[in-house]
Amino acid sequence: MKHILAPLVLFLFAGSAFAQQYPTRNITMLVPYAAGGPTDTVARVVAQSMGKPLGQTVIVENRPSAGGILAPEQAKNAKPDGYTILIHHIGMATTPALYRQLRFNPLADFEYIGLINDVPMTVIANEKVPAKDFKEFLAYIKANKDKVSYANAGIGAASHLCGMLLMSAIETDVLTVPYKGTAPAMNDLLGGQVTFMCDQTTNTTSQIKSGKVKVYGVTSAKRVASLPDVPTLQEQGLKGFEVGIWHGLYGPKGLQKPVLDKLVSALQEAVKDPAVQKRFADLGATTYPADKATPAALQQHLKAEIDKWSPLIKKAGVYAD
Ligand code: ASP
Repeated sequence: MKHILAPLVLFLFAGSAFAQQYPTRNITMLVPYAAGGPTDTVARVVAQSMGKPLGQTVIVENRPSAGGILAPEQAKNAKPDGYTILIHHIGMATTPALYRQLRFNPLADFEYIGLINDVPMTVIANEKVPAKDFKEFLAYIKANKDKVSYANAGIGAASHLCGMLLMSAIETDVLTVPYKGTAPAMNDLLGGQVTFMCDQTTNTTSQIKSGKVKVYGVTSAKRVASLPDVPTLQEQGLKGFEVGIWHGLYGPKGLQKPVLDKLVSALQEAVKDPAVQKRFADLGATTYPADKATPAALQQHLKAEIDKWSPLIKKAGVYAD
């Protein structure tokens, strides 16, 4: 019996020694969208800060796809050794209702590390759009339905969700142009190829402040401190309209406890980091307190968001395939 158990004991011991020493090399954080966009921006701020307590560099790797559906699948299939983690947003909660063939299950295939931040969205348009405010903008869209186009980052992206809700609130349908992230969508918006989009403040704040895009409102219930002059959509007549984006950090299922604990505590250090909080606040985002940067808080929030959005999406009858 002893000689049968010995290799197993050795194996378990080696595994836990490995987990105790973790991390001994760079960690890769997968980003489901294009470089330079809102999720990438959040990832880079958090990755840099987490690298300090972990004593290793956290490298951001963009794995963009429309709707952000490939990176979670890649994270799910990565070795559960703590060297591949995933940042994702509300898409983790909305894609299960939007895709019939999704190849990952947000509630079964991941370890939860914790919540990162909340980000409001803004309705913006290219500067050639003549409308001076949201009311005029709606009138402009309705009058030019066959000419205007709406950019987003694919079905399942935050920009898709916001656009879908906006179009249904104003009972209008326009041409949708999907990208692998709102960074390339923003380039086309600035170039005048597409008319408008609803995108996170983490991507739109600098363009709004420099006057390169027109802004027609924020999607939060209250105005955003970093954009105090921009009215909410609710203030401008869209009663009850509210879309908030949140980010969380995940790992593949099966991380050993010491590895998960180190990732959780590094994330908690990052959300407590004044430089992180300031950068997010400058971009209109709110950093979660450390007691929400936990596996339980993320799991609970994800579940609540799936329960909130699934019936609304099913009612809207939107499917990606
Ligand atoms: N988060 C996406 C990006 O980083 C945009 C979106 O979800 O709309 O490009």
